[in-house]
Amino acid sequence: MTPMMKQYHEAKAACGDALLLFRMGDFYELFLEDAKVAADVLGLTLTSRDKDSANPTAMAGFPHHQLDGYLCKLIRAGFRAAVCEQVEDPKQAKGLVKREITRVVSAGTLTDDGMLDPREANYVAAVVLHQARGGRKQGEPPVAGIAWAELSSGRFCAGVFPVARIEDELARIGPAEVIYREDDAKFSPDTTAPWSWTSRPAWSFAEDASAKALCDQFQVGSLEGFGFNDEDSAAIRAAGAVLTYLQETQPAGLDHFRSISAHHRSGVLEIDASTRRSLEITRTLRTSSREGSLVDAIDLTCTSAGSRVLSDWIAAPLIEIAPIEARHDAIEEFMKYASLRSDVRQTLKQTFDITRLLARVATGRTGPRDLLQLAQTLAGLPELKAKLAGRTPKRLVQLESHLHLCPELRSELENALSEDCKLSAADGNFIKAGYDEELDALRKLAAGGKQWIAEYQQKQMDETGIPNLKVGYNKVFGYYLEVTNAHKDKIPQDFIRKQTLKNCERYITPDLKEYEEKVLSADEKAQSREQLIYQQLVSHAARHLQTLGEVAAAMAELDVLAALAELAAQRSWVRPEMTDDSVLRIEAGRHPVLDVTLPQGEFVPNDCVQSPETGMILLITGPNMAGKSTYIRQVALITLLAQAGSYVPAASASIGIADRIFARVGASDELSRGQSTFMVEMVETARILNTATSRSLVILDEIGRGTSTYDGLSLAWAITEHLHEQIGSRTLFATHYHELTQLQEMLPRVANLNVAVKEWNDEVVFLHRIVPGGADKSYGIHVARLAGVPASVNERAKDILSQLESDHLDSLNRPTIAPPQGHDSSGSAYQLTLFGFADHPVLTQIGQLDLNQMTPVDAIAFLQQAKKQI
Ligand code: ADP
Repeated sequence: MTPMMKQYHEAKAACGDALLLFRMGDFYELFLEDAKVAADVLGLTLTSRDKDSANPTAMAGFPHHQLDGYLCKLIRAGFRAAVCEQVEDPKQAKGLVKREITRVVSAGTLTDDGMLDPREANYVAAVVLHQARGGRKQGEPPVAGIAWAELSSGRFCAGVFPVARIEDELARIGPAEVIYREDDAKFSPDTTAPWSWTSRPAWSFAEDASAKALCDQFQVGSLEGFGFNDEDSAAIRAAGAVLTYLQETQPAGLDHFRSISAHHRSGVLEIDASTRRSLEITRTLRTSSREGSLVDAIDLTCTSAGSRVLSDWIAAPLIEIAPIEARHDAIEEFMKYASLRSDVRQTLKQTFDITRLLARVATGRTGPRDLLQLAQTLAGLPELKAKLAGRTPKRLVQLESHLHLCPELRSELENALSEDCKLSAADGNFIKAGYDEELDALRKLAAGGKQWIAEYQQKQMDETGIPNLKVGYNKVFGYYLEVTNAHKDKIPQDFIRKQTLKNCERYITPDLKEYEEKVLSADEKAQSREQLIYQQLVSHAARHLQTLGEVAAAMAELDVLAALAELAAQRSWVRPEMTDDSVLRIEAGRHPVLDVTLPQGEFVPNDCVQSPETGMILLITGPNMAGKSTYIRQVALITLLAQAGSYVPAASASIGIADRIFARVGASDELSRGQSTFMVEMVETARILNTATSRSLVILDEIGRGTSTYDGLSLAWAITEHLHEQIGSRTLFATHYHELTQLQEMLPRVANLNVAVKEWNDEVVFLHRIVPGGADKSYGIHVARLAGVPASVNERAKDILSQLESDHLDSLNRPTIAPPQGHDSSGSAYQLTLFGFADHPVLTQIGQLDLNQMTPVDAIAFLQQAKKQI
């Protein structure tokens, strides 16, 4: 093996399962298996090293300046990549160039702005199964510790959850990458998950080591101050694993990780993963994109940090009245004072995403422009603070107090940085003249030297009489004099020839070299002086990380509150009244997404009342496409919005706080996961029946559609009874099983609703208005026509329907249908065997059996005899 391949293998062994991008001169190369993967994913040409050997090494590569683009592609395809750089100048190297892995990039540890959606958080999460040590009862089921952190903002949380909720919690967090213990078989990567999986060694999840790593990071003696206690070992193990993972991938540091919050489930509305998908809260069902989701429809924030906080609020609504009302109070203030709202929003628009900017400061990836933007953001604070001074809502008072002005940091940055400063510090020339005497002096010298060179060029032209003589510069020779071949004969003695080109020759002179020395060294010194000043500014900003973190969070929340007020004002949303009972009253409610996407005024508002007196279970019947699903989702979304702290799209609303929201709607999206539609439907239904409480809100759409009519109807019936008798949760059930409407007669808290439809000239007009009572007719055939089913089929269906409705029965009471006109066997009727067995003689005999008088032998004898008759 060559020394270089040896070096490659060492680096490869250190980077685990990440692909190794190995810098060789101007290229990044991948070898062996990595090369094959890269060739496939990146579309690179697969070649090989030492082609002639018996065992050539597969290799693929790309030019170094294309690194960002290719990294992005690899991460999107779910890979991790380690970048191994040449860390010494190849020219200076004795023997093999030294190389080191300078960073490991993965989906969850991205910070590059170009690869992140500024409106979305980018979390790396860890999951670990945990069996409590001693103390607790033997045989207690394991729990799961889940931690999640965002490298680009320093946000870090952890909590303990029942194992059954792992999927739901991950769906709430929406991480880009999930790490798990390599020996945890449960997490063998599920490739359909929207995040990438990374396995990590078991030690990184060890309890004691985790607690120590966290205490060291936060410089505390115990984690109790963050809200963790003895019950939280699982959370701490997961948090430790996240921290060590980040530390390994971020050699430059994690100073912006100053604390961690203990996530306690008790304060948050529970929404399981499939409900989250069905309600399209942060992503749409079909395309899984943000566009078209609830969050997208209501997001009027003016900063990306605000957008991320809004997503958090919507993903994790609250269940305690006080914090919900604190948000409503703040929105109300912004509603009342329109100029306050627009001023605050205007000021926020001028600010930058300092949450992510501070993370770059902490991880050593910052540039001068980040610091300038920090200063510009700080410059907006006094105005913002003044606007909020003296307001009464508690939350606004708190947020105002978090807007720390940091005047001394601000003036330092303002004095130092020039307005047009560069993104990267390496570009230089970003410190203002007048800020640092030494830098000014060096710059003057460097500039003076350049001036001298210009004069020198003129002098040489005059003395030699060569009109086009000029002074040039390149890296190899430094400054030189260039003379075209036409004037070769005029070259004086003291010119020293350095290079011959096609049309000209290049010379140096002792004078030129002497000045070059001065200029270059002054330039160099100025540059390193500038870097030193820059580093001082960065450390100054870094000393304020914690304070600035608070400022950033306060600005983001102000943005969300003002944006929700703006939304409420623009769309006439109202403040919901929050109550502690389970009564729901919505007057003229609208679907928050359709209300925006349909042309103005087209959405038909609907009321909804759920109370023990008027009915806790609402059965909504009506033709397809009438608006049943829209209605039931709208009620769920309005409840969710209210509990997230927002106003709601209605004329008025009073909402009894729900502890959980369940939505069981359309299962088609699950087909790709390889389970049958019906199985998925029943798994989700089982979960609702097992976990809903009298405080929950349940919406069910077309339960039982995936099986035969009788099966489905019976299940839907029994499920409704169970919800009514055993659970008592507020339920909205949209169904095409017309038979279910009979339940209203039998169960006191069931009420029927249907969607009003107008028939006009053989056309059906959907009014989308929800009215009391059950639907009385199926409009399926009309809908089929609207959908383009051929006219002949529709005509025939109408014919069959009218025959069925007028009770064409044969001698066995089976419905009979006349064949279509022109059919060969005209005259003979079809028998519909679907209903055929309702009056079978065996059924009559079973009905007459007296089971109390029968012995098992009698029963067998009866069965034998019955079997002969069928
Ligand atoms: P269903 O569940 O009864 O089959 P949907 O709820 O899917 O019907 O609604 C069908 C379509 O009708 C929707 O896509 C929407 O465009 C329209 N719609 C539903 N409700 C309303 C409404 N209240 N106002 C206006 N249009 C509506």
